Amino acid sequence: MTGRVGAAPPTLTLVPAPRRGKPPRHLADLAPEARAEAVVAAGEPAYRARQLGTHYFGHLTADPAEMTDLPLRLRDSLAAALLPPLLTPVRTVTADAGTTVKTLWALHDGVRIESVLMRYPDRATLCVSSQAGCGMACPFCATGQLGLTRNLSAAEIVDQVRVAARALRDGEVAGGPGRLSNVVFMGMGEPLANYRAVLDAVRRLVAPVPDGFGMSARGVTVSTVGLVPAIDRLAAEGLPVTLALSLHAPDDELRRELVPITTRWSVDEALDAAHRYAATTGRRVSIEYALIRDVNDHAWRARLLAEKLAERGRGWVHVNPIPLNPTPGSRWTASDPAVAARFVAELRGAGIPTTVRDTRGSDIDGACGQLAAEER
Ligand code: SAH
Repeated sequence: MTGRVGAAPPTLTLVPAPRRGKPPRHLADLAPEARAEAVVAAGEPAYRARQLGTHYFGHLTADPAEMTDLPLRLRDSLAAALLPPLLTPVRTVTADAGTTVKTLWALHDGVRIESVLMRYPDRATLCVSSQAGCGMACPFCATGQLGLTRNLSAAEIVDQVRVAARALRDGEVAGGPGRLSNVVFMGMGEPLANYRAVLDAVRRLVAPVPDGFGMSARGVTVSTVGLVPAIDRLAAEGLPVTLALSLHAPDDELRRELVPITTRWSVDEALDAAHRYAATTGRRVSIEYALIRDVNDHAWRARLLAEKLAERGRGWVHVNPIPLNPTPGSRWTASDPAVAARFVAELRGAGIPTTVRDTRGSDIDGACGQLAAEER
């Protein structure tokens, strides 16, 4: 070996060479019946599917060496058939004294995504990606600038959750051993534009072991720009997940600029769909509102937003303003704190429950809208 001067430093992890095509089929892509069929097709009795499910969803492992209740001859073959590795860690960055952990992953084809784990005294939340990149093109969002690379498979979403839950369980996150309580689809991508995979993933999150992790549906939040037909479809699934609508402006003129899909569904149409969601599921909807200095943070916009929410009923909604996390190259910045406080006061004064969201991880580009998954 000759050491080349100026060669790139070695990366911490060996990332497999990219392969093209769909992600390999994985246990977590399959509903329980299909899992049993896949095991039978591999020449094994159906109950092996339950054993695999118990290992993956219950023990949070995909490593055949840990599956000591399976005959040795089967461990590798079944794991190869149903538990192919999907995520390879490329880099991990921590903030907030180790309680915020951002992980950059390489998928089987070399595509990069990120997930962010945030630990609080009373809960632990994982922010997952549902797509590599995003097609929604919101100009204030780092992912929106990338365009869409591809949808993730259900298992590529579920495995982000498994790895985080395992790290918490094993005490690898500051604060000692813990449990993953919440999953929010607020990483890269528009979850409702990858509907089938996201729904399959949510089912795996909430189904009890051995069919899923047994999380509470109330702890799962699906965040959307407001794809109206998909919101109605989600409401009909009978899964009481929380819906978050990324509104960012109460008027079509400004929202068309901030959230371009507004040209397809207006503010009123998106709010009507959110209201129907609350009525059908009994779950209070969250309205996300990134406060952008001198762009959408005016008191009159707070009043217009309050009016539009109140005219649809009481108790169905709450607003989560969040100071904009500025992204590199953006012309926008966060609202002045006094202006943000006024915005919140207007909403509360109109009787709209309002909670300012924190900006965990902003210093590691791990906050909402900062996930760009590039090598920096
Ligand atoms: N596509 C989905 C989910 C991904 S983003 C959606 O739009 O809801 C999760 C949340 O972060 C959304 O509310 C999004 O509007 C918000 N967000 C994006 N960029 C942001 C930024 N730079 N600062 C603050 N919030 C941002």
